Amino acid sequence: MRAFLKLLFRNGLAAMGAVVLAAILILVLITPLLPLQNPDSTATADRFQKPFSEGHPLGTDHLGRDLLSRLLHGTRLSLAVGIAAALIAATIGSAIGIIAGYFGGRTDNIIMRGVDMLMAFPYILLALAIVAALGPGLMNALIAVAAVNVPFFARNIRGITVGLAGREFIDAARLAGMGHTRIILTELLPNVLPVIIIAMSTTVGWMILETAGLSFLGLGSQPPQADLGSMLGEARSALISHPHTSVVPGIMIFLIVMSINLLGDGVRDALDPRLRSGALSRASATTLVDRKSDIPAATDDLLAIQELETQFHVGKRNYRAVGGVSLAVKPGECLGVIGESGSGKSVTALSVMGLVASPPGVITGGAVRFQGEDLIGTPYETLRQKRGDRVAYIFQDPLSTMHPLYRVGQQLAEAIRSHHRISKVDARARAIQLLKDVRIPNAESRVDNFPHEMSGGMRQRVGIAMALANEPEVIIADEPTTALDVTVQAQILSLLDDLRRDRGLAIIFITHDFGVVAQLCDRVAVMYAGRIVEEGPTQAVLGAPAHPYTKRLIACVPELGGGRRELAAIPGLPPVVDDLPPGCAFATRCDKAQEACQAGDVALKGAAPRAVRCLYPEEAV
Ligand code: ADP
Ligand code: MG
Repeated sequence: MRAFLKLLFRNGLAAMGAVVLAAILILVLITPLLPLQNPDSTATADRFQKPFSEGHPLGTDHLGRDLLSRLLHGTRLSLAVGIAAALIAATIGSAIGIIAGYFGGRTDNIIMRGVDMLMAFPYILLALAIVAALGPGLMNALIAVAAVNVPFFARNIRGITVGLAGREFIDAARLAGMGHTRIILTELLPNVLPVIIIAMSTTVGWMILETAGLSFLGLGSQPPQADLGSMLGEARSALISHPHTSVVPGIMIFLIVMSINLLGDGVRDALDPRLRSGALSRASATTLVDRKSDIPAATDDLLAIQELETQFHVGKRNYRAVGGVSLAVKPGECLGVIGESGSGKSVTALSVMGLVASPPGVITGGAVRFQGEDLIGTPYETLRQKRGDRVAYIFQDPLSTMHPLYRVGQQLAEAIRSHHRISKVDARARAIQLLKDVRIPNAESRVDNFPHEMSGGMRQRVGIAMALANEPEVIIADEPTTALDVTVQAQILSLLDDLRRDRGLAIIFITHDFGVVAQLCDRVAVMYAGRIVEEGPTQAVLGAPAHPYTKRLIACVPELGGGRRELAAIPGLPPVVDDLPPGCAFATRCDKAQEACQAGDVALKGAAPRAVRCLYPEEAV
């Protein structure tokens, strides 16, 4: 609720609407307590007094009645009728919509055709017809306005409900033995309630106008009772000679409808969860860069990540997701990056091509050099040309990155054609060849599959094919096999290994699985809380881990045929990166930790390529 209000009031116009509306509401609520004259007592001698005349701050009307008093009483009545009509229409309309949408089939058909019939009449004509049938009067105007708005709610809510009624959580509720009423009340209603509130907040102003319209025509409130519409109607004949009698209620109507609509729009924006999470801002096409420190000098590596620092600036908090990471690969080399979930592996990988979402992501230091050229802070166009063409990514879940309505062949062809000018026919042939390269059987027919027609392993292979499409020099694979079973994982690993040997591809392979690292990687870097804590050739690190964290991670890996052995888990959780302790971030979970570990920064030490960030390593390096 607090987050909602905060978001609402960040929108200046909505805040203004809320303030004006609140002021009007308070004023009409205390109207009976104010020392006002009787709104209906006439004094013909005092007719058409100008505003600011004595005893009548807003003047008087054609019967000498005090306009201020009539205005406040009239507003009170108009608001009450408008809001009541909105509540009635929303309740009845939503109930109809939910029932039609939930039960579907014939129920839906009968109800909705009835609603359609109501909708087929012009709006105001229908309201007029209802009032004509019931007779003029404020109560009948209220019924008419509510009735003509029921179809609007019914249609809207039915549409939402139909979408929800087929979802799995409703099926689950039904299988759990819940009755229809309970499902509607506890499963459906909470989901449609925001929509109902939004629809109401944006239509209540409209309903106040409609009620005023009926009163203006003499079909709503009857004399001498004042509401905003009847005040306007009575002032009509004196519009030219005494404009203040119509301007006063006119301004009030304007203020009410305007403030309700501004507030309603604000409520809609603030309630929409998609807008809420993104806070109405879109991520920019490249990560923001704000580097204060010196930029490291070039090396002769193919891809070098140098002292990279990436942070997330959320409100006042600073999440240091990557705190000075250096990694490098040469052609044909495979580097493994390993660490628990949340250790900053993905953010490191995404920073390379400026893919970390900004806001909140900011690269605050270091460099990423591809063939010596610093990629950080390069213009979007330069980065775009390299993304996918020179440095490609393979992500964990290919289903969420592929378009569900295009065939995989088309998507592969698109990846190629966005970097190279080749004909559609050639692109398709290339797509088939790529599918063969990643060992998809029947590539010629599979190329016309939709993503959902493939198994998880096949989709992941399509993801790899897409990464290979433009023959990149570097592939960054972010846990590409985590979602797959072991046999498919083994195939994909050997595929990547072949590519590396055949094409001289450099691979940065991110994982949390030491088994995978042992199979594929020449070197490995262990990450913890956004920093590298140990690195070296895979055999050396696996054979003699130096950092206690690495040792514990390796102890977590079960071994087939290794006999009975206690499987270790590392107690505790990785630290939250917005408030990192000084010194070693692992110290609180480490059984070898001493006071010095938490005293100050621990440097990465060792004889290259072996290095460890620990004061009391398990093995000397
Ligand atoms: P992993 O090693 O599992 O890939 P990530 O690189 O995804 O970990 O995340 C590293 C850290 O960055 C985590 O502590 C995570 O909470 C934080 N982080 C990631 N994205 C955001 C974000 N948008 N806002 C704030 N913190 C984030
Ligand atoms: Mg990750």
